[in-house]
Amino acid sequence: MRMYSEADVDSSCLQAKRIAILGYGSQGRAHALNLKDSGLDVVVGLRKDGSSWKRAIADGLRVEEPAAAVRGALIIAFLTPDLVQAELYKSVLPAIGDGAAVLFAHGFNIHYRQIEPRADLDVILIAPKGPGGLVRRQFEEGHGVPCLVAVDKDRSGNALRLALAYAQGIGGARAGVIETTFAEETETDLFGEQAVLCGGTTELVVAGFETLVSAGYQPEVAYYECMHELKLIVDLLHEGGLKKMYQFISQTAAYGDLTRGPRIVDEHVRARMKDVLAEVQDGTFAREWIEENRSGQKNYRRMMKADLEHEIEKVGAELRGRMDWLQG
Ligand code: NAD
Ligand code: MG
Repeated sequence: MRMYSEADVDSSCLQAKRIAILGYGSQGRAHALNLKDSGLDVVVGLRKDGSSWKRAIADGLRVEEPAAAVRGALIIAFLTPDLVQAELYKSVLPAIGDGAAVLFAHGFNIHYRQIEPRADLDVILIAPKGPGGLVRRQFEEGHGVPCLVAVDKDRSGNALRLALAYAQGIGGARAGVIETTFAEETETDLFGEQAVLCGGTTELVVAGFETLVSAGYQPEVAYYECMHELKLIVDLLHEGGLKKMYQFISQTAAYGDLTRGPRIVDEHVRARMKDVLAEVQDGTFAREWIEENRSGQKNYRRMMKADLEHEIEKVGAELRGRMDWLQG
């Protein structure tokens, strides 16, 4: 493993150079503000009718329409939702200067060839391992969120140096920047969110809730047990791995974990994980998601609606309303 830290960064390649940030959502806002606070020349590129325009101006940033923001920029960071980046790339391409660098925070469009950048451009990735809110907050507190760095095309001979300087500008180099490839970042990111972080966790929570409720237990008690308390466990894992969790839970909980956990996540579940990974690797998932977007996200919206109408959501909203320390 190759990990870069602040000592490995030479920020001089970004001095007096412009960085265009396209998109002002979770990552876009955090990157733009951190880079600006690092003393770099940042322009945010947004649609004039979009809701982010006013917010970026209120945050004290220079804002232009995408093509104008891109003109004269050395780095163009694509921080809109992944599935609109290909069209955005096409629309700003004529304004991208010779030998500039296009930068991504997730490898999807390069890895699955939705964007095939012009032959003179550097193609780089800086992917923070955390949501934008955290990237901003950690930076303001003098820390940083670790990042992955990858270079897909190094036309200038300077691509890695540029990517590391950008990572330094958003605070990532303070925590360490691990070298990867677009393929590894894309495939592990998609697999992680499908099997473990989002898909796996939410299904586990809901299945546990349903098991208790259908056995006659009160939904409120099932909610606290299966969803609310998950945070306590995740915090322990996040701070100190399995060891810290075992130190803080009871021996009874630990014994139940050691003997029952492997019966829940058994060979069957591991085989499904391999299936899901194979669909990420062979592009099946990407093709399906691109097609879903082309046809107007009908299935996406239907499935989301069903999830949000589940009983656990009604019970949860009611109970969270009584815990005012959870708000904000
Ligand atoms: P987001 O959905 O929070 O932000 C989207 C922003 O893009 C909007 O606020 C708007 O300003 C702009 N936008 C939306 N539609 C547009 C369009 N049609 N044309 C132009 N601009 C448009 O996005 P995000 O979650 O910050 O993701 C940005 C990139 O960062 C993606 O590549 C994503 O995979 C990656 N990423 C996200 C996270 C995360 O935690 N959210 C973490 C790591 C990497
Ligand atoms: Mg789910």
